[in-house]
Amino acid sequence: MNQPGSEPRAESTAPDGDTRPADFIRALIAQDLSTGKHSHVVTRFPPEPNGYLHIGHAKSICLNFGVAAEHPGSYCTLRFDDTNPAKESAEYMEAIKRDVHWLGFDWGSRLRHASDYFQHLHDWAVDLIRSDKAYVDSLSGDEIRAYRGTLTEPGRPSPYRDRPVEESLDLFTRMGRGEFDDGAHVLRAKIDMASPNLNMRDPIIYRIRKLTHHMTGDAWCIYPMYDFSHCLSDAIECVTHSLCTLEFEDHRPLYDWFLAQLDVPAHPRQIEFARLNLTYTVMSKRRLNELVAEGHVTGWDDPRMPTVSGMRRRGYRPEAIRDFCERIGITKKDAVIDMGLLETCVREDLDAVTRRVLAVLNPLKVIIDNYPEGHSEEIDAPYHPQKPEMGSRKLAFSGQLFIDRDDFMEDPPRKFFRLAPGREVRLRYGYIIRCNEVLKDPASGDVIALRCSYDPETRSGGAQSGRKVKGTIHWVSAAHAQPVQVRLYDRLFSVPDPGADKSQSFKDLLNPDSMRVVSQAWVESSLSKARPGDRYQFERQGYFCVDQPDPETGRTVFNRTVTLRDSWARLEKQGSQSPRRG
Ligand code: ATP
Ligand code: MG
Repeated sequence: MNQPGSEPRAESTAPDGDTRPADFIRALIAQDLSTGKHSHVVTRFPPEPNGYLHIGHAKSICLNFGVAAEHPGSYCTLRFDDTNPAKESAEYMEAIKRDVHWLGFDWGSRLRHASDYFQHLHDWAVDLIRSDKAYVDSLSGDEIRAYRGTLTEPGRPSPYRDRPVEESLDLFTRMGRGEFDDGAHVLRAKIDMASPNLNMRDPIIYRIRKLTHHMTGDAWCIYPMYDFSHCLSDAIECVTHSLCTLEFEDHRPLYDWFLAQLDVPAHPRQIEFARLNLTYTVMSKRRLNELVAEGHVTGWDDPRMPTVSGMRRRGYRPEAIRDFCERIGITKKDAVIDMGLLETCVREDLDAVTRRVLAVLNPLKVIIDNYPEGHSEEIDAPYHPQKPEMGSRKLAFSGQLFIDRDDFMEDPPRKFFRLAPGREVRLRYGYIIRCNEVLKDPASGDVIALRCSYDPETRSGGAQSGRKVKGTIHWVSAAHAQPVQVRLYDRLFSVPDPGADKSQSFKDLLNPDSMRVVSQAWVESSLSKARPGDRYQFERQGYFCVDQPDPETGRTVFNRTVTLRDSWARLEKQGSQSPRRG
């Protein structure tokens, strides 16, 4: 896990005067403001619209939008890095906008696209050719790779490197007119084929791609490469601090090189930080895309996915994700964060805001023999025992109930404080009942129902309401409860580091129990009003969020967001692989 404190730290002063410990990026920014290098901060979040956002992107969003919000007159742009029409789409762009908003951030009028700058970028490319800092290369892709050399061997100059400026200008113009096929020529920066940094060995800056672009249509058939478009887009927007992940550290000399060669309005400072990695999942869009395309999950917003949309459907609130991003902090050291920490943030957030309700996922019938036949009553029960302001509802009670099978044992160990033959338990908010007889299926021997009696004096307000028994269990009235579908989600992979072993496909490490469907569970009748997106705590079981109704049965669907306790942490301590199903 990331150790906070491994980076230079300082106090930064937020606009409201409140001081908080700053990460190294906030410390650098505070310094730039205090020395007068900048009067305000401009950042950007630059997603490529080639997939949905994941929780790693949320870290970058919280940082970029967060830093801008901390300083007066500062702002963060949402800029789509849409330079590769082969993989990008308007659908992804819309999904990204939805997710950034949902996380609680607003770009206001500052929505930009690298494609907004295509003409400007093209003109700068021509400037580079004119000043003999770029040339059209006519080697094939394979040849360019072979000429590039390796970490231990310098590259070799392309035979086209010294082609006359006029010839490169002419070829680049004709590339832009569509006279050549994809791959026939590329435009390369002329830097240093012997540089120890491979990124500086005459990187490609434009290539031919005869594709329709979702923003610019067929206006272009040459597209700029990331390294060229990114720094220049930052410069056009007068970004002060260009925050990116560590893998771009080796690209920084190139970032600075382009800005030094060209007449740009600003020279942003690139600062790298460690990307977020999480246990039990994969985070690259390429891998997530494979899971979607091959049907290992139901879509980008499958509740098992580490995507923002998946987490939303699973029931996470943006508050929990922002809290998580704040707790992991910003450092320069690569680390893998325990999924348990994210789940802790989710539990803590939901604990404060969800109503507690009763639901039975694995029903066992209880018949109360001494309860008046055909009768029922209502019990007033608070939605959150510690928070009366959350209100209460009426729970229906009758002579036939469902309890969870796990709450009964025919031959229990001594410390089993739930129901067993001859033993008593309290029904949550209700009476104390006693199990008198176990009814079994004669053929299979399975327990099918329990005959019990109740003590009428033990209801809240009754003479014996304070009588103590060791266990309290949840229940619903069989005649009043509503049948629903429940999806018990668990971690997507069964090992902490599914991406680590390169000899094995990460897809072979998917957790076969990552989703278990309970097609008929029973919830208390107050949940008949539950709507998609509503969140509840099922007492003693976990947090659940309503999804779209099941298309086959029309039943309400509850997704398990997270269990009440971390069963994985306990198991890892015991050295076991997969957790008890909860
Ligand atoms: P992936 O590798 O998952 O495909 P990416 O870096 O290609 O991600 P982009 O859309 O280019 O995805 O990323 C947009 C921004 O989000 C970039 O500034 C990138 O550095 C940042 N980002 C991406 N993944 C992470 C991560 N795991 N942790 C922190 N920031 C991230
Ligand atoms: Mg990228």
